[in-house]
Amino acid sequence: MREALALAVLPDARCSPNPRVGCVLVGPGGEIVGRGHHVGAGLPHAEVNAIAAAGDLARGATAVVTLEPCLHIGRTGPCSQALIEAGVSQVIYAQADPTDLAGGGASVLARAGIAVIGGVLADEAALINRAWTHVQVTGRPFVSIKTAMSLDGRVAGAGGGPTAIAGAAARAWVGQFRSEVDAVLIGANTAIIDNPALTARDSSGVLLPNQPLRVVVGGRNLPTDLKIFADTGAGPGIQIREHDPYRILEVLLSKQVHQVLIEGGPSIIAAFVESGLVDEIISFVAPQFLGAGPVALAPLPSPQAVTVTAVEVIGNDVLIRGALSPAPSD
Ligand code: ZN
Repeated sequence: MREALALAVLPDARCSPNPRVGCVLVGPGGEIVGRGHHVGAGLPHAEVNAIAAAGDLARGATAVVTLEPCLHIGRTGPCSQALIEAGVSQVIYAQADPTDLAGGGASVLARAGIAVIGGVLADEAALINRAWTHVQVTGRPFVSIKTAMSLDGRVAGAGGGPTAIAGAAARAWVGQFRSEVDAVLIGANTAIIDNPALTARDSSGVLLPNQPLRVVVGGRNLPTDLKIFADTGAGPGIQIREHDPYRILEVLLSKQVHQVLIEGGPSIIAAFVESGLVDEIISFVAPQFLGAGPVALAPLPSPQAVTVTAVEVIGNDVLIRGALSPAPSD
């Protein structure tokens, strides 16, 4: 299964809105006779690629796959059927398929007389497809918010204009992270005042292969010469004329966005926190006091606790990652 998981995290196995999937076929002597991973919607699934790689050696082999083999007939045939036709003797999978449409592959395999074991390293497999799984279960995109603030919680100086709060290492971290999401989102004020490009870049500034959709929300008319609308080989830039977080996520999902990174400003971030729609908090704290200026979030109607999942030093800044804590039940 570790071999299959390694295939699922290969750079070209990222094929959002489809999940990352890796598959190995193991022969009777324990040797790997075929490897496959899914490289894009409409292309063969991991199991089919592994069967093709194994050729005749697929017969009698054990298929080890990171996601329960699918049952649906989409642009490609169902993998459960392909495994049955290939004559594999056993199927071991990690994460159960959470989709109504595709779930049930395991039972079809079992009915065909194939030994099936599920749940092996399931948590690791689900983490690889965290956003995809989230969409299948909740019906809405996975939402990450990013803030960069001073030790006194401020995101800009007294004038409120653009201020580089976090250092170069933190900005490089964000540039890389953008390549792992489907969309990056800001409010109209941030777009006009800061005019960020919101591109995914490596630490030397080179555009990465996966560029997110760049989104400005709000009803204000925007200058057409904003950097996010510039065609520089990065992702397309769009405006969504909505303020309501639920509506914004609906529009994003209709554009096949499974994970969105919200980068500001204070009003839009507060609106998502208040709605309880934030799944992950990414907060950089820079070692300086700005002394004056706006804080990271617009006022909330009540305090909101955060469960910290990781703390890391990035350059001179501290990165705190976490999730909104569930409201205490009484
Ligand atoms: Zn499949």
